[in-house]
Amino acid sequence: MIQPTLPFIRLFGAALIAALILPGSATFALADPTETARLDMVETQIAGRDIRDPLVLAAMRNTKRHLFVPETQQRHAYEDRPLTIGHGQTISQPYIVALMTELIHPQADAKVLEIGSGSGYQAAVLAEIVAQVYTIEIIPPLAQWAAERLELAGYTNVSVQHGDGYYGWEEHAPFDAIVVTAAAPHIPPPLIAQLKDGGRMIIPVGSRFRTQQLVLVEKTGDRITTRNMLPVRFVPFTRAGDQTGY
Ligand code: SAH
Repeated sequence: MIQPTLPFIRLFGAALIAALILPGSATFALADPTETARLDMVETQIAGRDIRDPLVLAAMRNTKRHLFVPETQQRHAYEDRPLTIGHGQTISQPYIVALMTELIHPQADAKVLEIGSGSGYQAAVLAEIVAQVYTIEIIPPLAQWAAERLELAGYTNVSVQHGDGYYGWEEHAPFDAIVVTAAAPHIPPPLIAQLKDGGRMIIPVGSRFRTQQLVLVEKTGDRITTRNMLPVRFVPFTRAGDQTGY
C-alpha cells in the first residue's frame, strides 16, 4: 500500500478534514480523495470529450496517475495537461493516453508493446485492460522508475526493459498492438514486422520542429494502411547514442 506523499496530502487534506468534522459525511470521509479527482478527470476530460470504449473509461478511472509522477507533480496529476517526469521527458495529457488506448482497440486477451515507458502510466492503463504489456525505455533511470512504480502500484502483467525501442521486442512478438509514445520521423519497420496480422499501432510521426501527426497503422496480411488521426506534440524518439532525436 502506497502512502500519499506530502503535496497530495496538502491538496486533499483540507477536503478530508472538512468531511471528518462535518456531520453526516461519514461516507465521504472514508472515500479516497484521489479517486474523486480521478473520476472528475474521466467525467470532464475523457468521457466528456469523445472517448466511448467502456474498457478504456474503466481503465482511466482505475489507474492512479499520481503514483507515476514525481512528488512535485502529484498535486497536478489529474489536470488536463502533460506533466514533466524528469530527464527532459513528459507524461502525456490524460486525454491523449485514453485516445491512444482506444485507437488500438484493446482486448482482454491481448499482448501489447509500448515504446517509451517514461513514467509507466500509459503501460499501467494498458495493463488494466490487456493480458500482457511489454514496454521499452531508452533512458535507464526512467526504465527503472517505470518498473518500480508499476510494481508499487501492484501491476504484475507488465515487463519493462531498458533499450532502443526502434527494434521492438522480438522475443515476445508478434503483438496485437503497439503504442509508441515518442515522435519518430518515420514508422520503424521492425515495429511493423512485429505487429500481428490484424494488429494496430498508434505512433506520433514527425520531427520536433514540425507538426507531428498521431498515425494509426493497421496491418492486414501484407497490407499496411496508415491514417492521420490528429496533430500532436510529443517528445522526440531518440536512438541509442543520439539523445537529440533523429
Ligand atoms: N508513455 C510514457 C510517456 C513518456 S514520454 C508515460 O506514460 O509516461 C516518451 C518516452 O519515450 C520518454 O521517456 C523517452 O525517453 C522515450 N523514448 C524516446 N526514444 C525512445 C526509444 N528509441 N526507445 C525507447 N524509448 C524511447
